[in-house]
Amino acid sequence: MLTVNAIAAPSATEPLVRTTIERRDLGPRDVLIEISYAGICHSDIHTVRGEWGAVPYPLTVGHEIVGHVTEVGADVTRHAVGDRVGVGCMVNSCRECANCRAGQEQYCLQGNVGTYASVDRDGTVTQGGYSTHVVVDEDFVLRVPHAIPHEAVAPLLCAGITTYSPLAHWKAGPGTKVAVVGMGGLGHMAVKIAVAMGAEVTVLSQTLGKKDDGLRFGAEDYQATSDPATFEALANTFDLIINTVSASIDVGAYLGLLRLDGTMVNVGAPPEPLPVRVFSLFNNRRSFAGSSIGGIAETQRMLEFCAEHGIAPEVEVVDADAVNDAYERVLSSDVRYRFVIDIDSLR
Ligand code: NAP
Ligand code: ZN
Ligand code: ZN
Repeated sequence: MLTVNAIAAPSATEPLVRTTIERRDLGPRDVLIEISYAGICHSDIHTVRGEWGAVPYPLTVGHEIVGHVTEVGADVTRHAVGDRVGVGCMVNSCRECANCRAGQEQYCLQGNVGTYASVDRDGTVTQGGYSTHVVVDEDFVLRVPHAIPHEAVAPLLCAGITTYSPLAHWKAGPGTKVAVVGMGGLGHMAVKIAVAMGAEVTVLSQTLGKKDDGLRFGAEDYQATSDPATFEALANTFDLIINTVSASIDVGAYLGLLRLDGTMVNVGAPPEPLPVRVFSLFNNRRSFAGSSIGGIAETQRMLEFCAEHGIAPEVEVVDADAVNDAYERVLSSDVRYRFVIDIDSLR
């Protein structure tokens, strides 16, 4: 066992604190990674505050991880000591079910093993990336292209893939109109990726406060959802809406913005159910869908895509002791556009 420095939530109501956690001994197919940066995803906050259900405390979260390989197990072939690598939201899956075989490990029929708060296939409870090192099966470790700046890599492993996957699946591209609801961590990546795919992008944010940034990321239009006129002006407009909002919204109002055969995909994960009146789906034969992160091969493709198109998350690097303040800023939509923890501050 390796004892490493980390930050953990002692309970749902207490601030995160510095601590140590154990990492398992390297198995033959494992990779030991020295972590450089870990992104702060809103899912980390939902999880540590118990909003999605019971979790095992104390818990170290973090599923946007970048670092370097410092040791490999005897049978590892995909990664070597010194490689720059990433880890996202999953660290294992059954590998045998139809979805795993289709490269959709995120939808593993046995349940994928989350990077934190899951029971791994060896029986241990997984602990996330707010720590100096992590041990991960080589198949769930991503190669990071050189072109992506080091401090900006981590958010691609969740915010990047979670938006890339539905944009690719629902074929955002030239001639399609895409709306992105909420411009936080996921939302700003959705804008950049959809623009790079060739779609015409509109941001739907609570206010116009971040309009200049949205246009700089390549959006053609940016409208405030606090203004009821937005919903009239944009009725029957979009082929695809990616909703990244972490709270409950009036889904029906947004469905009205879809044109014929349009789809609204929810990636935001509020704890409460989102009520949908079926009549908002009848018009224009609309669909309301969900999407969860992305498969490992798809995550690798997303990294190559971002490198090729010069896309990277906008990050604000913080020290370990600033994590609780960063959480408060995420909760008040005051994030530009992803907090990333400098893990050197934990060593
Ligand atoms: P974030 O950085 O906090 O962004 C969420 C954005 O939603 C905010 O920046 C804000 O954008 C908007 N928003 C927040 N509260 C709102 C409210 N009450 N009404 C309307 N808009 C509001 O969070 P994130 O890290 O991008 O994550 C977003 C959600 O996706 C979370 O629920 C997270 O758990 C979930 N998630 C899901 C997956 C998946 O696989 N499906 C993966 C990762 C994350 P504006 O300021 O522009 O309005
Ligand atoms: Zn996440
Ligand atoms: Zn499976």
